[in-house]
Amino acid sequence: TQKLDIDAVRQQFPILHQQVNGKPLVYFDNAATTQKPKEVIDALSQYYTGYNANIHRGIHTLAEKATSAFEATRSAFRTFLNAAGTEEIILTYGTTDGINLVAQTFGRSFIGKGDEILISTMEHHSNIVPWQMLCEVNGCVLKVIPVDESGELDMAAFENLLSDRTRLVSVVHASNALGTINPITEIIRKAHHVGAKVLVDGAQAASHLTIDVQALDVDFYVLSLHKMYGPTGVGVLYGKKDLLNSMPPYRGGGEMIKEVTFAKTTYNDLPYKFEAGTPNIADVVAARTAITFIESLGKDRIAAHELSLLQYATDALQGIDGLRVIGTAKNKVSVLSFVIKGVHHQDLAVILDQQGIAVRTGHHCTQPLMQRFDITGTTRASFAVYNTTAEIDRLREGVERAVKMLK
Ligand code: PMP
Repeated sequence: TQKLDIDAVRQQFPILHQQVNGKPLVYFDNAATTQKPKEVIDALSQYYTGYNANIHRGIHTLAEKATSAFEATRSAFRTFLNAAGTEEIILTYGTTDGINLVAQTFGRSFIGKGDEILISTMEHHSNIVPWQMLCEVNGCVLKVIPVDESGELDMAAFENLLSDRTRLVSVVHASNALGTINPITEIIRKAHHVGAKVLVDGAQAASHLTIDVQALDVDFYVLSLHKMYGPTGVGVLYGKKDLLNSMPPYRGGGEMIKEVTFAKTTYNDLPYKFEAGTPNIADVVAARTAITFIESLGKDRIAAHELSLLQYATDALQGIDGLRVIGTAKNKVSVLSFVIKGVHHQDLAVILDQQGIAVRTGHHCTQPLMQRFDITGTTRASFAVYNTTAEIDRLREGVERAVKMLK
């Protein structure tokens, strides 16, 4: 396959062409959120200038236009994830929202006292706290798959933790803090073997890895558009149709009902049963453009570029005195987390920012994982399709300068 023309890609991102603190911006905080191409920004403005209307109930032309644009995004996600049907695509406000939905509906109905939920040490807080909240209400038990020194799941321990009490395994596809890609095919197969369902948190994976929910046979898959070149406030919960049908609704309100009387209310069909209230229409509409953006470049070509950046950056930083990479798994997405002996990550980030370089520091919403490595946080550089090796050279120079100043 032909390589991407990164200069042309960069031209599509207006925000990248600016000075920050007198230096050209280097944006390496993509695991927090990616930047948006012009076509996504334009789609938002076209919606509000051309056909803003509430969806699904209107007879008038604008309402029909808005509805069909909204539903076109749902179809695009069906294709993106290779789901069997659009009724399996629930539009949410993001990964956090999707996980809470599953915890409060599937969890409350099918996970009882003494039942077990398996998560892992490398989960984002959004894949920890909703289960703890459920356990407080239901008396179910949270068990944790350990992570080894390289940042990989301990799969032998995982198998030992599985039992006939396991109702759900909820794990991250790719870690936002370490970059580790987890063997989810194997996890899903083994969990199904004991009759447990599986939720995969795809927030960090979705812009990098190909996802085929039918081939994976996954029960739930969640993601956030803002980490995939799309707008904030939009996410997808994929769920198997039978499972979604068996679950009670989440939020009550308009749109999720068939008929309301004070005696009894009946609920709408999938996917609307889980989409109460007016959704984030403009951002959902614009999200389709983000999918088109990714597909027009090709996920394999995006991944190849990002992995070459990860390799280049890992090599470039390796020589810095006292630097240790946290997360050295064999299979990684383009996330590089590191600590430097004698340098606090917060101080490092301030000095990098003075040079126009945006990185993330701290616990990355994975405090238990930081505790596992006995650190309070890392400095994290995460790469997207528009990043370049020249920018990584600037990062290396910036880190070297900071180390000289701080040590
Ligand atoms: N899980 C992972 C792996 C993430 O990276 C993130 C976002 N950084 C989340 C969950 C939460 O996603 P959101 O804040 O978009 O709901």
